[in-house]
Amino acid sequence: MSARVVRTVADLRTQVSSWREEGLKTAYVPTMGSLHEGHLSLVRLGLEKADRAALSIFVNPTQFAPHEDFDAYPRAEAADVRAAASAGAELIFAPNASEMYAEGFATSFEMKGPAEGLETDFRPHFFGGVALVVAKLLIQAGTDYAIFGEKDYQQLCVVKRLVKDLDIPTEIVGGPIVRDEEGLALSSRNAYLSPEELAVARTLNKTLFTAAADIAAEPARAEVRLGEGRAEIIRNGFNSLDYLELRQAGTLAPFTPGMKEGRLLVAATIGRTRLIDNVAVEVG
Ligand code: AMP
Repeated sequence: MSARVVRTVADLRTQVSSWREEGLKTAYVPTMGSLHEGHLSLVRLGLEKADRAALSIFVNPTQFAPHEDFDAYPRAEAADVRAAASAGAELIFAPNASEMYAEGFATSFEMKGPAEGLETDFRPHFFGGVALVVAKLLIQAGTDYAIFGEKDYQQLCVVKRLVKDLDIPTEIVGGPIVRDEEGLALSSRNAYLSPEELAVARTLNKTLFTAAADIAAEPARAEVRLGEGRAEIIRNGFNSLDYLELRQAGTLAPFTPGMKEGRLLVAATIGRTRLIDNVAVEVG
């Protein structure tokens, strides 16, 4: 199957509207490209819910700080279009920056709630940029569903909140994290890892999973166990740890005694690569 690539909001809208006029349900998968199985799983999930899937490829400048990897971020549009089509996407929206942010662009968002803490403590600009671009993408496309990965769990919570707050009539669906055979969460940024760094990266999900299992079994020891997990991450060779934190699933409020559905989230840096991962913690 091949996919049609469009670069303007007008062409995107025309295609999605014509699907709707045919009575077809539509799903959308926003991405920054450099597609891997994680992204493709979201296309397939979208096609379980809807008849047609579209995918966007846009490396969004407003969610990168000046010192971050915007210029180095891997870009591979031709391969991405083939991969997305092979997963069943029929439409690719790949705008340039001026289509998304015209001269004189003057709107910005500030989000609280699930955007507070975690990523925001280390990338304060991040969710403002994400909320802005996701709101634009969803309003532009007007699909029935939009699929986001649990890989970026805080982002998924923020997007669900955003859509509720702005009455955007698109249902947000979360897709499970796709991992490689050793449990490393797939990420476009894994391409930055040297073989030595990859070996360190592979320890992260193990630390995360064992800590989650231990906390589920003995929630009263959660704080101590988190401390042990933090020390283990540095011992395993990560250069720095931004956070290893237990939060309430969905709201990302602090996890307090009596709560049942937790989420353990981690962000750590090896070399120049910052990795994030998370897992559910079911207490009781
Ligand atoms: P990105 O291109 O990194 O902005 O990611 C685009 C979408 O793919 C986001 O909703 C991510 O959460 C999702 N995603 C990225 N990696 C994975 C993965 N390993 N498993 C599931 N979803 C993923």
